[in-house]
Amino acid sequence: MSKKIIIGNWKMNPLTLKEAEKLFGGVVKGVSIIKNTEIVICPPSIYLDKLTKVRTNKIKLGAQNAFFEQSGAFTGRISGEMLYNIGARYVILGHSERRARGEGNNNINKKIKASLSAGLRPILCVGEDMRDESHSYFNLIKTQIEECLFGVSRNLISKIIIAYEPVWAISTTLNRKDATANDSREMVIFIRKILSDKFGADASKMRIIYGGSVNEKDALEFLKNGGVDGLLVGRASLNAEKFVDIIKICEASSK
Ligand code: PEP
Repeated sequence: MSKKIIIGNWKMNPLTLKEAEKLFGGVVKGVSIIKNTEIVICPPSIYLDKLTKVRTNKIKLGAQNAFFEQSGAFTGRISGEMLYNIGARYVILGHSERRARGEGNNNINKKIKASLSAGLRPILCVGEDMRDESHSYFNLIKTQIEECLFGVSRNLISKIIIAYEPVWAISTTLNRKDATANDSREMVIFIRKILSDKFGADASKMRIIYGGSVNEKDALEFLKNGGVDGLLVGRASLNAEKFVDIIKICEASSK
């Protein structure tokens, strides 16, 4: 089984390259003793080039989006190949903040296939905006997964990570609520069933992680009881100390 994974999503932060280098450097310093946890940081793409030059064999870099064409007349886009060539190895796709601005499953599906062809490992975000009493959010997650993974070759699926991120628990959501490890575990079981119906035994090679306001206080609970193979961390990844704490908690829980 793959190592547990902790992924930091810096979103559109920080404001300067200097701050990005400082934050990254703080994490590099803090994780020198980590052996059994995979660490990925996804900064804004504009910082990737510089950060790949920082010497560390502990941290991999990822992007926060990639277009589905390789190159050409696509003003403002960045392709998976470009990201790979600069040193990125992962890419977040289908994040709720992009879905909220119109990104649909069909587009995400094309990006997943293109990113895989480019050699990147997609981190596919799925999650419901809210939970209703009739539990229709399960259907929504099923549709997100089925449409986003439509036509993806079975021999590539182990490269994909599913990040379950209930939007109502994300730190920037207005009137957000805390999700529990139980909420996570229940959904992970459901997602595993969808994946195994679709891909058979190979689906067990896919990692499923949780994201939504995870911090150094609740990380252990999600890792122990949330049924997950790791965490996607937004706000807390902007603080090197907190992010390193979460990584160390994961490392200790994997022993
Ligand atoms: C995210 O939006 O991917 C995320 C995990 O954010 P936060 O941890 O800030 O809720």
